Amino acid sequence: MRRMRRVKIIATLGPASISNNMIQKLFLAGADVFRINMSHASHDSMRQQVSIIREVESKVGRPIGIMVDLQGPKLRLDVFTDNAVMLEKGQKFILDAVKQPGNIERVHLPHPEILASLEPGHVILIDDGKVRLRVVEATKTRAVTVVEVAGKASNRKGVSLPDTTIPVSAMTDKDRSDLEASLEAGIDWIAVSFVQRPEDVAEVKKIARGRALVLSKIEKPQAITRLDEIIELSDALMVARGDLGVELPIEKVPGLQKRITRSARRMGKPVVIATQMLESMITSPVPTRAEVSDVATAVFDGADAIMLSAESAAGQYPEEAVSTMNRVAEEVESDPIYRSIINNQRAKAEATGADAIAMATHDIAATLDLKAIIAWTASGATGLRIARERPEAPVLTLTPNISAARRLAIAWGIHALVTEDAHDVDDMATRAAELAASEGFAKSAERVIIVAGVPFGTPGATNMVRIAYAP
Ligand code: PGA
Ligand code: MN
Repeated sequence: MRRMRRVKIIATLGPASISNNMIQKLFLAGADVFRINMSHASHDSMRQQVSIIREVESKVGRPIGIMVDLQGPKLRLDVFTDNAVMLEKGQKFILDAVKQPGNIERVHLPHPEILASLEPGHVILIDDGKVRLRVVEATKTRAVTVVEVAGKASNRKGVSLPDTTIPVSAMTDKDRSDLEASLEAGIDWIAVSFVQRPEDVAEVKKIARGRALVLSKIEKPQAITRLDEIIELSDALMVARGDLGVELPIEKVPGLQKRITRSARRMGKPVVIATQMLESMITSPVPTRAEVSDVATAVFDGADAIMLSAESAAGQYPEEAVSTMNRVAEEVESDPIYRSIINNQRAKAEATGADAIAMATHDIAATLDLKAIIAWTASGATGLRIARERPEAPVLTLTPNISAARRLAIAWGIHALVTEDAHDVDDMATRAAELAASEGFAKSAERVIIVAGVPFGTPGATNMVRIAYAP
């Protein structure tokens, strides 16, 4: 079973999709990775979702990636005496540390460390930016603001602080406990919300200790200012357009999407485009033209994966949403313009043996019109460096390590297979060519190219290339 596209599809699970039957349908329709959102899932529900996905995985016989998304420090107001107030433009409104229900003059902000870091001039957004306040006076326990955009503030509404660097790590106590539980459940990717600094990523990696890879969600302006350092430390990135469009003016999101995608591609880190891709399909079986165009743009940009959120988690048409993404991606990738855009953005190889070999493999495969590039890869790293070249020929990775195969489910163009390590150079070539044929990538007597490292099974030893005929 092979996909006829290179971009991958991530489907978020939720009430609309958590069942053995539906997860299998979503996989068959095109979902390569499933995302479990800890903003909504309990530990028990998370473990149940992991076990259903693993059942489907063994039924369909293909490695499936599982991503657990940590909620992160989502800030909220406390409650109001009358549940809500209507704030008027120009009026003063105070956020303070007083644990009493709010009114038209003030409300409790139950995050003392956040109150302490607000400064005059900072913007405070309530309810995804529907209300805008600007701080005019600030002490450690109280911020006086002026209402710039009027609207309703109600119980426990979300608060965003685009100007304020939050002095706490991107992980809350809930995140730490969710992280431990998901690592124990054997998931493949951890998504970290509201990353601000490279240290936030380093902290999660230290806890994960290689048990899962770490994806940084880019949704804070502070992350944009240190983007390259964050990409360097992360195993993958997400352009989290929902919160990004609240924390920054919404019109900046498309340019940032291109910038993050290009930087991530240049550094060989998988990049996911997320949020509202097919939003109208939550309630409609067909998307808008604008949504189709948005999905197409992400594919043309060479993103590794495109993601569904509420469309597959809580919508009425989860399966249709996945198959729509699948169709749009297949069509875009078969457009001649796609190749010219992808080739134009090909990044220069870095001065390492693995990159020199990846670049040469791409060129040899293109020159000889080889049917597949097959990489023996213990950790998956060699596979990613080859995917970074965005070659025309399909990429197969061979690894004895099921978790490496599952992790690669997120990466552009990789068809991962689990097979025992090669025994010698002949086995390395023969088995790779046989697998390319049996998986439907090469017909008899067609040629493929194989990348490997000797001694076998040593990570980072990529040092040979061989051309072979499919049996
Ligand atoms: P969320 O992240 O759905 O967890 O908020 C994605 C986004 O902000 O776009
Ligand atoms: Mn978010």
